[in-house]
Amino acid sequence: MSLVVYNTLSREKEPFVPLDPSHVRLYVCGPTVYDYVHIGNARPVVVFDVLYRLLKRRYARVTYVRNITDIDDKIMVRAAENRESIDALTERTAAAYQSDMSRLGALPPDVEPRATKYVGEMIALIERLVARGHAYAAEGHVLFDVPSMEDYGRLSRRSHDELIAGARVEVAPYKKDPADFVLWKPSTDAQAGWPSPWGRGRPGWHIECSAMSGALLGETFDIHAGGLDLIFPHHENEIAQSRSAFGHAIMAKYWMHNGFLNISGEKMSKSLGNFFTVHELLDQYPGEVIRLLLLSAQYRQPLDFTPEGLAQAKGTLDRWYGLLRGKALEDRPIPAAVEEALSDDLNTPLAISALHQLRDPSELKAGASALGLLQQDPEAWFRWAPAGAADAGPSDTEIEAAIAARQAARKAKDFKESDRIRDDLKAKGVILEDGPKGTTWKRG
Ligand code: AMP
Ligand code: ZN
Repeated sequence: MSLVVYNTLSREKEPFVPLDPSHVRLYVCGPTVYDYVHIGNARPVVVFDVLYRLLKRRYARVTYVRNITDIDDKIMVRAAENRESIDALTERTAAAYQSDMSRLGALPPDVEPRATKYVGEMIALIERLVARGHAYAAEGHVLFDVPSMEDYGRLSRRSHDELIAGARVEVAPYKKDPADFVLWKPSTDAQAGWPSPWGRGRPGWHIECSAMSGALLGETFDIHAGGLDLIFPHHENEIAQSRSAFGHAIMAKYWMHNGFLNISGEKMSKSLGNFFTVHELLDQYPGEVIRLLLLSAQYRQPLDFTPEGLAQAKGTLDRWYGLLRGKALEDRPIPAAVEEALSDDLNTPLAISALHQLRDPSELKAGASALGLLQQDPEAWFRWAPAGAADAGPSDTEIEAAIAARQAARKAKDFKESDRIRDDLKAKGVILEDGPKGTTWKRG
């Protein structure tokens, strides 16, 4: 089943043909870590995790790189506000990000480079751009010389004038052309900085990804991905840097971009009060519920994140785990209908509807694995409780003890007592189900 992906470069769906089939290489732009990431940031992580899983099933060797931007002006501002060091802030927020993404069922990438570990590579890349006539130093800055690149703007399909309007680039006296962008900027003594041929300073954001992808995946690689908002200027500028430095016709062969996540039809924003971090949502919903909702729309479409959508995803997973519960599950291949749906530019909603058609629990579990779903023990699923609720209600051991007491009462034909125990648990939010293999329970 051949994989077809929509390539932003051509604005068309194209068959995926790796540059080197013995080693497929994927780069996804990661977050800037200064706080908990929001639910929109989780969308690229989850959808490109489905892509990574698919590539790993089909190719012997896949390298997936997803960076962490741990140097940025937003980070410096936040560290100063918090009165903590940049290192302490980024260590803490990067660890929270990794834990949150893992709770959403995302596999860790093969390499998760931090920008601050690649400053040497960034400086080398900038020197190369200067040497090749694509960058110039001015007043402690180094700028990329946009007019030096023939087809700058090809990814975003913007003309030179549109580029300037769209980028809202700072007009600065040291720029030769208003579209020129920063590769390196000077730091004051109070700001984070590294020594460089242009004085003490720090890198611009775009050069970070060119340096990390170049160092870890090579001068050209297969797929580069991220959210739609990164097409311009971030990805356009990455292409300009990498192609001009390495002299190739492409940086990545395929460029994939996910659409935006909205909250109940509105753009998420702090001022609208509809801003949710993954961290806080994970207190209220199992990670799998959030994951299923994130995969319920095809990745290029806008996704509406609503409380109803979360409740529906919870209901679907309750039903599916109910089908798996108590069954002896055998390993099965991923059903063809699921593979076919995903092979068509990651059509996850079609894959989910194919899962709804499956009756055999083993096939359901195998099909869901392609989406990173239904891989936990069904009993663990049904025991999940929102943060705080498990502390307020009876613990797992207390519930097991009550079930054993009820069992003993039933054996002694004391049905009044056994009903009392069941009703008491129900009042505490625990539902018992008697089946052929004994009594199971869930937090309702
Ligand atoms: P940032 O830290 O802002 O660079 O964002 C990290 C990733 O999340 C990028 O790939 C963004 O394109 C993506 N992203 C940010 N906001 C949203 C959103 N509301 N919906 C979908 N993706 C988003
Ligand atoms: Zn990037």
